[in-house]
Amino acid sequence: MNRVRVLVFNAALGALDYSVREGMRVEPGAVVEVPLGPRRIIGVVWEEERLFAKGVPVEKLRPILGVVPVPPLSAPLRRLVEWVADYYVAPMSAVARMVLSSGGALAGPRTMTEYRLVDGAKPPRLTPQRKKALERLDGEQATIRELAEIAEVSEGVLRGMVGAGLIEPVEVDIDRPYRSADPDFDVPTLSDDQRGASQRMIELVREGAFAPLLLDGVTGSGKTETYFEAVAEAIRLDKQVLVLLPEIALTENFLRRFEDRFGAKPVLWHSSRKSTERRRAWRAVADGGAQVVVGARSSLFLPFRNLGLIVVDEAHETSFKQEDGVRYNARDVAVIRAQLEGAPVVLASATPALESMQLAANGTYEKLDLPSRFGGATLPDIAVLDLRETPPERGRWIAPPLVEKLAERLDRGEQSLLFLNRRGYAPLTLCRHCGYRFQCPNCSAWLVEHRLSQRLACHHCGHEVPPPAACPECGEPDCLVACGPGVERIADEVAELFPDARTALVTSDTLTSPEKIAEFVAGAEGGAIDIIVGTQLVTKGYHFPELTLVGVIDADLGLEGGDLRAAERTFQQVAQVAGRAGRAAKPGEVLIQTRHPDAPVIEALAENDRDAFYEAETEARRDAGAPPFGRWAAIIVSSEDEAEARDAARAIGGIRPDHPDIAVFGPAPAPLSLLRGRYRYRFLINARRSAKLQDVIREWLGQFDFASGIRIGVDIDPYSF
Ligand code: ADP
Ligand code: ZN
Repeated sequence: MNRVRVLVFNAALGALDYSVREGMRVEPGAVVEVPLGPRRIIGVVWEEERLFAKGVPVEKLRPILGVVPVPPLSAPLRRLVEWVADYYVAPMSAVARMVLSSGGALAGPRTMTEYRLVDGAKPPRLTPQRKKALERLDGEQATIRELAEIAEVSEGVLRGMVGAGLIEPVEVDIDRPYRSADPDFDVPTLSDDQRGASQRMIELVREGAFAPLLLDGVTGSGKTETYFEAVAEAIRLDKQVLVLLPEIALTENFLRRFEDRFGAKPVLWHSSRKSTERRRAWRAVADGGAQVVVGARSSLFLPFRNLGLIVVDEAHETSFKQEDGVRYNARDVAVIRAQLEGAPVVLASATPALESMQLAANGTYEKLDLPSRFGGATLPDIAVLDLRETPPERGRWIAPPLVEKLAERLDRGEQSLLFLNRRGYAPLTLCRHCGYRFQCPNCSAWLVEHRLSQRLACHHCGHEVPPPAACPECGEPDCLVACGPGVERIADEVAELFPDARTALVTSDTLTSPEKIAEFVAGAEGGAIDIIVGTQLVTKGYHFPELTLVGVIDADLGLEGGDLRAAERTFQQVAQVAGRAGRAAKPGEVLIQTRHPDAPVIEALAENDRDAFYEAETEARRDAGAPPFGRWAAIIVSSEDEAEARDAARAIGGIRPDHPDIAVFGPAPAPLSLLRGRYRYRFLINARRSAKLQDVIREWLGQFDFASGIRIGVDIDPYSF
């Protein structure tokens, strides 16, 4: 009888040994079913020497029950699981679970239902939506959701058509192939800079060895066109490609561009897709049938068979950082995955993270530059509007000089964009009578008024209530006062100032479906919108030719709070939103409203002097021992019981590590000291680069065995601190 080591999906157990029956073949990476007590659980066979398990004599071992019929996890993917678990101080089983269960790959039917138009159905009368669906879905067969995306109608419209006998279901095999992308479908003519950068990427794709690249291109330089040529080369060589996007809202736009270039859609991956769609994608990635996958950060854990290129688009984006469960940074894990797979990885951004710039400066990353906009467009003029000198009128937020510029644009028939990174109508609501502030019962956060949906909502846990008729504290009726602006309030102000202007409010509350996103993009591209008011959702990816004015309502918003990354984040956000202006023939102009015109980050933005910003920021980080010079980690101790959380944090703090290269601060109440009903205490740890930070943390926390209500989360390289 043979012994095999199995990584079981149980964090406390980790690895267990099992025996293998005569005639059964299992290799490392095989997904197996094993007995655990009375249950059957899933596990992955691992190399024995890489994983510790208690030594049990072979005759006492229980046998493996069966091998799950999916391709075994490849050696590079197993090494990735080990690396992520080790670096982020997470249980290996939790990481392996991300590989397997996210795919829904293991269980479920082998067929799925797709839909297509019924041949020759001749409907007498049609609504415009149904007519559009009939025109656009000719020859298409896909899930309802995918058809809705193709036709740009709602899923409800299509379901209605199924009911009316216009669309019919078809049962199909889950392993049928995706339509393949054609690398030569519509090849663009590149500019010289673009050609230089894409040639280098193509060369590296051909070499098929690890190479980290920073594609540093100004907004509108055509980074996508440029890396698409490397994608094309990988397809020609029959290698797989992964493109990571920071936000699902950006995928619509990306899918369309991809299809224009390659004649077929890539395989889309994110965790909110239906489980059959995920199962199909997971299996296709594993057997090589999925050539190009576009996805959110979790797609890094897909079982690629022959990965030839990874692209992280908008690589500076904070949403690449996973903030619960296994807390990892997808940008960094992408580089590791590329290294393990022996493939080039491209980090594309107009405003790279300081860490990435530093790695390029010291030669670890190769830098490819696209210093100018495509097609002769120039970068916009940026001016600072000092709110202390020209304040807006009382109860308004748009200062007179910006109002004037907006009026000019309206006269000229050009488009403007007002940016404020705050959803809702007002961030804080008070009772005018007693001063009561509406607070979330589950979080230490104010409730945000949403006037469109008539709700007071918590942006952290989703708790919502209708605005009460009277103050819950003093009983005064009609007492609510909105404090401060959100984008809804700015949109109201625009409507008052320019009643005839066509405006669009763009936030995750209004762009809630692919249909609405498509409608907005079509309107904005076609010049049917005069003034766009939006959150960070409009700061990236879009290319609106008529847009010539960008107004930043409050550049100081992100600078408050003392976060070490505040300046970098402000720089990135403002530079990205500024980058929407003047991308085509007409030059663009940007006005930044601020009360701190001499803050270094605002000055650098106004001077369009990126280097000055990176230099100042580098010095600040060096002084603070912050990344990339030193390292930080956070430990969050939480419980639903306040005293329990505090006691646990104190116990941990009582035997803190004593290490010359590591300083531990805390415990202190975490910035959100109550979050989703859990009280949180935090330690911050600052370490020299050379210190073995993870080992110290593992050893420190390994000494405790707390009650099950206490959770301890480790955050290596936390985003904000
Ligand atoms: P970035 O991502 O660098 O801000 P984009 O990739 O969005 O820039 O490109 C800006 C615009 O210029 C897009 O509309 C894109 O289609 C267009 N463009 C860029 N390069 C080319 C090219 N070589 N040929 C045709 N159009 C291009
Ligand atoms: Zn809340």
